[in-house]
Amino acid sequence: MSRQLNIIIAGGGISGATAALFLSHLNVNVVVLESRPGRMTSIEGGIVMLGPNGMHVLQGLGLAEALHHRLNGIQVPWLHMYDSAGGRLGKVPQGSAERYGFSSTMITRWDIQEVLLDAMEKKRLTIVWSAKVEGAEEVTDGVIVHWREGNIVKERKVDLLVGADGIWSTVRTKMYATLNIPAPKPRYSGLVGVGGAIDISSVHGLAQYVTLEKPVVMVQGRLGFFGMTLFDREAKYVGWWTTHEAADRSRDEWKVPKDQIYGEILRRYADWAFPIPQIINAAEVVDAAPFVWPIYEVENLQHWHSKSIVLVGDAAHAMPPHSGQGASQALEDAAYLAYLLRQHQLNPSSDLNDVLAQFQRDRQQRVDEIVAEANRRGDQKRELGAFGMFMKKWGMRIVFYFMKEDWMDGWFGYKVPGIDDWIKIRE
Ligand SMILES: Cc1cc2nc3c(=O)[nH]c(=O)nc-3n(C[C@H](O)[C@H](O)[C@H](O)COP(=O)(O)OP(=O)(O)OC[C@H]3O[C@@H](n4cnc5c(N)ncnc54)[C@H](O)[C@@H]3O)c2cc1C
Repeated sequence: MSRQLNIIIAGGGISGATAALFLSHLNVNVVVLESRPGRMTSIEGGIVMLGPNGMHVLQGLGLAEALHHRLNGIQVPWLHMYDSAGGRLGKVPQGSAERYGFSSTMITRWDIQEVLLDAMEKKRLTIVWSAKVEGAEEVTDGVIVHWREGNIVKERKVDLLVGADGIWSTVRTKMYATLNIPAPKPRYSGLVGVGGAIDISSVHGLAQYVTLEKPVVMVQGRLGFFGMTLFDREAKYVGWWTTHEAADRSRDEWKVPKDQIYGEILRRYADWAFPIPQIINAAEVVDAAPFVWPIYEVENLQHWHSKSIVLVGDAAHAMPPHSGQGASQALEDAAYLAYLLRQHQLNPSSDLNDVLAQFQRDRQQRVDEIVAEANRRGDQKRELGAFGMFMKKWGMRIVFYFMKEDWMDGWFGYKVPGIDDWIKIRE
């Protein structure tokens, strides 16, 4: 019998909840500390694309079906691309069920969280809400985790602390302190996302423009990018988002009043073809809570672990949203870490530090390649002159024309080692 491991996971987002669920099948006592006061209650977390590779991880937990039963969540085998004058640029394969077992799925982050948290509840896994991890001190045989629950300060010694606390990770900062290296800070990319959701009926003709057969439309222009997507099976709502350049601001300055946000994006997109100005105008009336999301990056993090602390998901590799892979990579990290910890328990003489080193070694190259591609896609959203736009448009038309269904095999066809074994382990 292997020794039971005591593990605290900081963060109950996608990577933290997934890690807890996988670890619950091992000889592990796992507790998740989450700083939020409770579950999300709306689409406040935005809409994300889950790649077939991410769906395979959920399948490993037996949760793919639960995700497919949500009212939200639609299959997206293709992205349809246009220029700002309404000219068609082509379509980009996103992964079909025939090729990968699952197609890409557009869904709200809230739905993914609900499926994971329901599964945690069913397994009686502990998630402590309003628990903010504030410190971590490594000792010879583990790590002492410090956190605050309301006004109460708590601490506990465990074998392993998993930092699943997102891009602004406190665990990352504390882990770098234990390594005696200054912690890298997130850097503003110069791009900001703004978006929301509207009722499809609020724009005349929109229901004929985005349909369940053509659910995602992306538009490239000189001054930015505009995307729109269905995300519910009844095709009632359209999620929209823009990405464009904006000067850096302080945290408070990003909290811009709603009128100012719409004023800014209308100035940029007012002369774009249908349905973009119409969506922005409708959003001004219908959507009370647009998100403004300055995009930060933490590139090429050198250290993902110390002796008893490991980072997963955005804490290890903040994934720019342009890849559509942040959630999927967070899922892959969680599944692979659990896989390695399982091997560790099967071979008790192995060293936990070696397990964590292997985790970083095996995950980092894949993640770095995806981040690099995401940054290339992000650069296509930066401002251009007329000639640059002309070249971009024709470049895209040619690339999309020759793009084959297999172009994303590396991303979408990937399966985390051992993922199919969990089906047996779960029984
Ligand atoms: C605008 C935008 C669009 C995106 N679009 C896509 C997309 O289309 N496809 C895709 O795959 N990904 C997308 N992503 C990225 C994706 O959402 C993230 O990569 C993914 O959520 C990372 O999961 P995570 O669990 O690592 O981090 P998070 O989801 O950030 O979760 C971290 C959790 O930790 C908690 N926490 C933070 N600090 C502490 C603390 N000190 N103590 C305890 N808890 C703490 C937080 O409350 C949170 O619940 C997008 C991101 C953005 C910003």
